[in-house]
Amino acid sequence: MSDSSSRTGADGDPGPGRELVRRHGFGALLIRGGAGTGKSTALRERVIHLARPETGRPGLDPCRIALIASTDRTAAAHRIRLEDDLPGPYEALSVFTWEGLAEEILRHRPVEAGLGPSFEVVGAAERLAMLLARVDELPLRHQEIRGNPAGLLRELLIGIDRAKREGTDGGELAELIEIHNRILAAADLLDRNDLPRIATDLLADPALAAEVTARFPHLVIDELEDLHPARAGLLQRLAGAGPESVVAGIDPSRAIYGPGAEERFLAAFPDLEQFTLDEAWRMSEVRITAARAALGPGPLPEGAWEARGDEGSVRYWRPASARAEAQAAAREVEHQIALGTPPEQLAIAVPDVNSQGVGVVGALAERGIPARPGGGAALFRQPEVRDTIAWLRALTDPTDARAVTRALMRPPTELRSLDLARLTQISKRRKLDMISACEASLESPQMAPEARQRIEGFLNLYRAASGALDTRRPDAYVRRLIERIGFRRQRLFAARPETAERLLGLSRLAQIATDFSRRDPNASVREFTVFLEALADGGLEPVGGPDLPGVGAVPVMNLDLLKGGEWARIWVLGLERPFGITRNPGPGIGDDQTHPGGPETARVAVATALTSAREEVVLSRASEAEPDPVAAILEATGGLEEIQGEELFGPAEDVAATYRAMLGEVMEASWKAGSELNEPRLDTAIDVNRAVARYLELLKLAALAQRDDGSSDEEAIEAVNGLIAQVATPEQLAELDSSTLDPYLLAQERERGMRQGLADSRSEPSLDAFLPRRGDDLRLSATDLDMYLTCPLKYKFARVFGIPTPPTVNMRFGIVIHNVLQRFHELEQDVGRPVPDGEARLMALLEEGWRRGGFGETHDELQFLDRAREAMRAYWRSEEASESEPAFLERQFEFKVGPHFLRGRVDRVDRKPGGEFEVIDYKTGQRIDSSRHGGDIQLALYRLGAREAWGIEPEAGSYYYVLEGEKVEVQASPDDRERVERTVLEVGEGVLGQDFEPRPSPGVCGWCDFRLVCPAAEA
Ligand code: SF4
Repeated sequence: MSDSSSRTGADGDPGPGRELVRRHGFGALLIRGGAGTGKSTALRERVIHLARPETGRPGLDPCRIALIASTDRTAAAHRIRLEDDLPGPYEALSVFTWEGLAEEILRHRPVEAGLGPSFEVVGAAERLAMLLARVDELPLRHQEIRGNPAGLLRELLIGIDRAKREGTDGGELAELIEIHNRILAAADLLDRNDLPRIATDLLADPALAAEVTARFPHLVIDELEDLHPARAGLLQRLAGAGPESVVAGIDPSRAIYGPGAEERFLAAFPDLEQFTLDEAWRMSEVRITAARAALGPGPLPEGAWEARGDEGSVRYWRPASARAEAQAAAREVEHQIALGTPPEQLAIAVPDVNSQGVGVVGALAERGIPARPGGGAALFRQPEVRDTIAWLRALTDPTDARAVTRALMRPPTELRSLDLARLTQISKRRKLDMISACEASLESPQMAPEARQRIEGFLNLYRAASGALDTRRPDAYVRRLIERIGFRRQRLFAARPETAERLLGLSRLAQIATDFSRRDPNASVREFTVFLEALADGGLEPVGGPDLPGVGAVPVMNLDLLKGGEWARIWVLGLERPFGITRNPGPGIGDDQTHPGGPETARVAVATALTSAREEVVLSRASEAEPDPVAAILEATGGLEEIQGEELFGPAEDVAATYRAMLGEVMEASWKAGSELNEPRLDTAIDVNRAVARYLELLKLAALAQRDDGSSDEEAIEAVNGLIAQVATPEQLAELDSSTLDPYLLAQERERGMRQGLADSRSEPSLDAFLPRRGDDLRLSATDLDMYLTCPLKYKFARVFGIPTPPTVNMRFGIVIHNVLQRFHELEQDVGRPVPDGEARLMALLEEGWRRGGFGETHDELQFLDRAREAMRAYWRSEEASESEPAFLERQFEFKVGPHFLRGRVDRVDRKPGGEFEVIDYKTGQRIDSSRHGGDIQLALYRLGAREAWGIEPEAGSYYYVLEGEKVEVQASPDDRERVERTVLEVGEGVLGQDFEPRPSPGVCGWCDFRLVCPAAEA
């Protein structure tokens, strides 16, 4: 074994290092080096060198040189570069990931490997969906499900994959792994992670191993740092068969599976040559200093990675909020694109793209910049994909009110809000599912003829689609549905910049259906719908997701997936957030340093980002985090954080941005009106006039954006309106009069994020008749106030439309606990003293309530029962120690605040030993953040209600967290009354003014019952 340090040259001038790689003869060679030292280029040059004829040696068929990488992204990048650089002809390049190489070997010898001749390989998303569909068969009794099996299973899959990489039995996960494998085997499917191990077993036969090395006598390995034990097993077999040459490049600072790769390679090839490429030819000092600081001591010792260039700067942001951060990134992206950088060369990375990506994509969309969000959730956030899922759900279950509602609200039916509210009213009053309500509405005098026509059209489509539901294969059915509903046609002519991404989304959905049908030709559309929902819940990228950035779109991606790519600039946002999955790691997972939430992943990912952009990297965090690589980087580089505040826009920029945002809306309105001209409906003239009015508004915006006469907004709007009035018809003018565009433009303090709401609200008729009222007064409760303040659109779905939602296991659980405690204290009040043996009584009431609550025997439900039993014990202990006694149970109050009518029901009111009263609200879910909405509203409202309605003056108010057996008092404050009244008036004004602007946020939308119908939850 020889060792040396060597220099490589800049592009076009290969130094001795790269020359050594290129010309290496027989045996193994290992090149060490950090990012930017030219390893990957040298490896590619070696492939080209071997393929080119030279004096005394014919060129080798490039198909016989296996280039192996760790990540799909790197393999794809190598393939593209080689296809550019290698002179043809050749059959197919042999560029693989390790799993791809294993699959290639197995496809040649499936029978010898004990596999079916056309075995199918599935990735993590498909496996997760399969596990979710059979969650009750899994040994999850001791894992915390908490009503969210998808989140737990995502975590467990990480543990399963790690066990497979390391070749262990998984310890505490062993039983789960066995069942996981059994489920896959029963469906004749292979886990991608199993491929290296199965190929290793196959190549135990020396003749077969020799056959592979005869096929690939030269191995070129990039990203050797990710040679985990399962991959190393395969490499050992190949080494044993004596390939002619093996050249591998390793960068220990980018190891995503932990250390040990170099030792494994040395074990396979003890007699190797090796050297280190020390110099990063183009990279600037600050980037390497920052990356070293992120990594901490270890992977690349001093002297082994030296900056020799001046490319690349690093900046740091401290944003005021996630929105401010997304806005700042979108602003800089827009600027870079204006300077000529292609959008796909600008990347935005976040720790968890599923939750953080929506805001970023939204900020880009506000500037008309197309984005390609990564992560599994992105596909399922696309409106047309959600429409297809809604249709499938509605077809397979007519009682699924949310799915039917979405199908009615979206093209081609586009039922107006007012008619939808009428429909949900019919459904509730007559106790009909939404499909039956649609049928009933055709006879209802409440429904306008135009609405009836739309509903009739919807029912025709529904009946036609439902007729074929049980006779077609899922792939044929989904493709037909997409065509029949017209999703592709609508998209094809929409002028929005993300059109290509949306069409791609639809074809990926069809591909998922094709893969599903291929795996199980007998599966039904109903089974596919269950699978698709599980896939959407899982939030992982299905197989076939895009590996390369789409041309013309900014990639918005998970930070730990940057490896293998290179961009001009990268903005790394949201670094205050924990990495990857935010759930606490479960048993068998938490001790893994390379877990997606682990500190090593964070360090390696940030260092990788710092070395993956040629021009600049921005690191942004709203606050310190744990782990916090940014703090160490700031210290090492002496960097300073730039403060980024939320933007309020100047008029000119605001008008231009509104113009861009409205472009797509105008094109879609004209497309829709055009289609109606072919098949006129009763309200076609309305839609045509509306489309023309939208176009006139676009003209108005174009005029305002380009004015340079120094006039005020008000003067300019008035002047343009005067001109428009000369050309528009009375109907179009009426449409323009009802538009909120002018007030919006004049209200300069309003955020740009309201623009979409503006577009939505302008086409909505008044819902006044459907607002919840008592007499003329608006009817509000503490839950209503909280819901409206959290998200007005959610309030609209729940309270104005009244879309029914099935109770979740958490809700049913809460109801049982409330009932048990009520009955227990009523018993006490009946006998006038503490119930003897209270704990046993509580338990008996719980068991009875549980049976009546319709709970079953799933792991999740049994876990809730365990927690309920424990909670009852804790409750009894706390009750025994309490000196207070319940004075009222489930007592209602009603009173007026201004013109609004407030009502509520207090779970319990205690009388303390000194005679003071305390209002108590039982909680069985998450802790209440009393600082939300400017201070606690619920208990303050209850205290006020007790005073106004019952004439008592509660001194205290508490939340009783029943599961933890802890009562938390919320201090009253002198301004409670004033605060409650202000809140009620504010919410009342919003509801009466029908301001139902969505307020999307990852923490709230993730649990929202109306995600399927909500346009703000879309890409
Ligand atoms: S998904 Fe989010 S934005 Fe939409 S209604 Fe629910 S909470 Fe509001």
